[in-house]
Amino acid sequence: MSTSPEHGLPCGRDSLSVWENARNDTHDQHEATCPYCQGVYEQFRILAIASDPYLAQAITAPTSLIATVMRTVLTELRPGRPLPIPSDAGPAFITDTALAAALRAALDTDPAVITHRCRIDTVDVPETARSAPNTPTQQPTPLAVQLSVAVSYEHYTRHGESVVRTRVIDTGRNLFAQQIDTVDIEIIDVFSTEVNR
Ligand SMILES: [Zn+2]
Repeated sequence: MSTSPEHGLPCGRDSLSVWENARNDTHDQHEATCPYCQGVYEQFRILAIASDPYLAQAITAPTSLIATVMRTVLTELRPGRPLPIPSDAGPAFITDTALAAALRAALDTDPAVITHRCRIDTVDVPETARSAPNTPTQQPTPLAVQLSVAVSYEHYTRHGESVVRTRVIDTGRNLFAQQIDTVDIEIIDVFSTEVNR
């Protein structure tokens, strides 16, 4: 048994190994009688008694978190509508749910914003403004994005909407060549990122 200086007991055993044995209830004859090893066992028992009630408690996530997780799960399960990606080499599509996930991921990099809802609609384009029928995948379908977000009390700025809007539009264009015409933003909550108050 290797014994590091900082964990070595006077009896020669390693306290971390003894701790592991106490946790697994696998002590040998020496540990059962050695006062130093028994000291480690006692510490383990004290900690176990103190922590067991907490470990037994059901963990309840905040309802806002549950809603966020469930929305993500449901979003992943929905197939979504296909949106054409402009391509010269054959048809390519991204579903609106996948695009929404990408937009949410881009927004999640901003500590000032938590996205609650991201909905993507196609914008009706007048017949005269449509691309020629023989090149249906050359033009992206104009999109309208509706966001519900919570913003950080400490980090959100006066120009936060335009920052969010720009990030959404840029992500859609740069990643998937999507044309996002409008981004409606609804701030539905304000949160604090300060833990120690
Ligand atoms: Zn010992």
